[in-house]
Amino acid sequence: MKFGPTAVVLCALVAGTLGAQTTHLSIAPVHPEPGAIVRLTLSAPASRADAIASIHGSMAGEPLHFLPSAPGTWHAIGAVPVDATGSLLAAVEVRRASGKYESVRTRLILPTLPPPVAQPLAVDSSFTRPLDSVTAARVERENARAREVGRRAHDSPLMWAESFLRPRTSAITSEFGSGRLFNGRMTSRHLGVDFRGAVGEPVHAANRGVVALVDNFFLAGNVVYIDHGGGLVTAYFHLSKPLVSVGDTVARGQTIGLVGATGRVTGPHLHWAARYGAITVNPLDLVSLKRNWYGGSSSQNDSPKRLRTRPTPE
Ligand SMILES: [Zn+2]
Repeated sequence: MKFGPTAVVLCALVAGTLGAQTTHLSIAPVHPEPGAIVRLTLSAPASRADAIASIHGSMAGEPLHFLPSAPGTWHAIGAVPVDATGSLLAAVEVRRASGKYESVRTRLILPTLPPPVAQPLAVDSSFTRPLDSVTAARVERENARAREVGRRAHDSPLMWAESFLRPRTSAITSEFGSGRLFNGRMTSRHLGVDFRGAVGEPVHAANRGVVALVDNFFLAGNVVYIDHGGGLVTAYFHLSKPLVSVGDTVARGQTIGLVGATGRVTGPHLHWAARYGAITVNPLDLVSLKRNWYGGSSSQNDSPKRLRTRPTPE
């Protein structure tokens, strides 16, 4: 995915008396796919007499973290849920030191997509049988823990200063969002990217972050979740062996585990997943992110100044 020129621009509803100044919010790309990461650009006129005190915003139920990129310009990452249809609302509130505020809203129109292309897989019938109630409850608990890691990532400072890497250099064997056809029956969409790999081959951290979760899950097998801050999390499934522990700070490209076939899989490979808060996104969109548009400068400063953000009710 590439970030082209922004085209969705709505005007501000200016509350207070800021005269002819207007605040704009735009989103790119214009027609994001389900599971896409989008870029929000906020243009808020500078006022020496009345500085911006805070920027609060939300989209799809997740808070937005705006970072300055140039005088009067701010960027944030947003996420499009895979099951979103129709349109998504982004709402931002800019507060000035004087207490004046501007409220800006932009609606992202989602394209109507054809159904995903199915990938036939002939597998053991144990893959198509419904889970028993005990196992289903375990899977739900594990999903809840993964969502919690995403939620907490909103409270972590941004820990990456360079672009995201693919966790393996091998071929991609299954793309994000492709349908899963088990023995002729469509079961679910594929909410990650699979990389080829033999048991024992290295898996690399996509970027700098803190290890938030290491465990053995029923479906995903041995997992490692990395909190990169600013709401972003990457996860690495089916490992034969994790090589990191919860709380470890990992470097971009560091080997964090070994490829395996643990969990519910048909063979060894790496399943790579990503979240923005609770929303599962296409991890390859992270690789397309340019650090310099998000954080403002290409500086290697790992802790850029950022305003506190909180969700704005829609
Ligand atoms: Zn997968």
